[in-house]
Amino acid sequence: MSKIVILGGGESGVGSAILAQAKGFDVFLSDSGVLQDKYKTELEQHGIAYEEKQHSTDIILSATEIIKSPGIPNYSPLVKQAIEKGIPILSEMEFAKRYTSAKMICITGSNGKTTTTSLIYHILKSAGLNVGLGGNIGRSFARQVAEDEFDYYVLELSSFQLENMYTFKADIAILLNITPDHLDRYDHDMQKYIDAKMRIVQNQTEDDAFIFWEEDPIISKEIEKLTSAAKQYKFADHKTDHVAAYLEDNKISIKTPKSVFNMEQDLLALTGTHNLYNSLASGITAKLLDISDENLRQSLSDFQGVEHRLEKVAKVRGIQFINDSKATNVNSCWYALQSMKAKVVLILGGTDKGNDYSEIEELVKNKVHALIFLGVDNSRLHKFFDGKVEKIEDAGSMKEAVEKGYALANEGDTVLLSPCCASFDLFKNYEDRGNQFKEYVRKL
Ligand code: ADP
Repeated sequence: MSKIVILGGGESGVGSAILAQAKGFDVFLSDSGVLQDKYKTELEQHGIAYEEKQHSTDIILSATEIIKSPGIPNYSPLVKQAIEKGIPILSEMEFAKRYTSAKMICITGSNGKTTTTSLIYHILKSAGLNVGLGGNIGRSFARQVAEDEFDYYVLELSSFQLENMYTFKADIAILLNITPDHLDRYDHDMQKYIDAKMRIVQNQTEDDAFIFWEEDPIISKEIEKLTSAAKQYKFADHKTDHVAAYLEDNKISIKTPKSVFNMEQDLLALTGTHNLYNSLASGITAKLLDISDENLRQSLSDFQGVEHRLEKVAKVRGIQFINDSKATNVNSCWYALQSMKAKVVLILGGTDKGNDYSEIEELVKNKVHALIFLGVDNSRLHKFFDGKVEKIEDAGSMKEAVEKGYALANEGDTVLLSPCCASFDLFKNYEDRGNQFKEYVRKL
């Protein structure tokens, strides 16, 4: 019997194990860390063999194929050994796609993936399509292929997942943008990261669609080299030749071979330029899937947004608090600041991945009157911002940051948490950071 070994026992790995088991493989799951109890129970209920806190190399290297969690780098010693032995290393998507003929709508990019994936899912679901949501979000794609029967999947794909996808094909591929991120996993070689992202178009044919941001300098360069036959649909914040979706006179326009769709920008649920792009990419997708204008208009205007992404928390005595905890790099903070209309007290800091703050310097000077550095080590922030902003304070906890933010803000201001950094110095993850922010705002 063919043996499938799964490396990593999170939602993705456990979903893959359940699917592989259902398809009659001999399955073994291995995790070097501790598995969550709910996953252990599930594996046991399905009679799936597993181990935690170790990797049994002999069993793992006897696999016919290995499904690897995106969290494990291809250069880890065990994966390298498997590659040397000629064992194919697959991502969950590559494996699960073998067992479904549903249409695949796949979203990647450095920023905006979760928002755009959730918005497209919302549009398709509200229009009554039988659609699943997966990839980096929620229930794993493999689990859904095992347990449900969807006609469409909207999948958020990271560069790590794309790296181990070979025969997979997206019917509609969306590439939002490419800016430096995760370079530690790519030998600090930007081109390697770009190549992983560009795999979103692999295997596409002339019947497929490739939607991308036409103003992105990196994507534009890659497009010149591209040999894909997929039909291209570009989006931009203004009208130019051959752009399918754009903004003109405060209206968005979406042109596909079959239709022209227009809508007032003011009616879009998501605000800010970055979200305009996300709405345009989603709109093109919807029209390619023949969603009616009425349904699309409704969904673009009633979308609730995604937690921790420019999430309005509360107004306290005329001060608006916004949680953008997911802004873990400088580029996403740039977009957050750019969309601010009021004066801002900005809370930023955390685990600095080698940030270049000059990207937000102008916006900070124009819109921010106070900065609060929230981190264990704020020295890089001080080095860059000291003397550039009127008031700067340090905070060692979220409680302190929120209280200082409240004290420094004037009526009509916005206190924005958009940290530019990862959260692991003071918090479990960005969700924990955002939840603590909301908790202390509500206690004000
Ligand atoms: P991802 O899933 O790619 O990390 P999210 O949708 O979770 O992206 O958004 C992460 C952050 O990036 C948000 O805080 C938001 O302010 C910013 N952002 C969202 N969409 C875009 C975009 N199209 N371009 C640049 N930044 C964006």
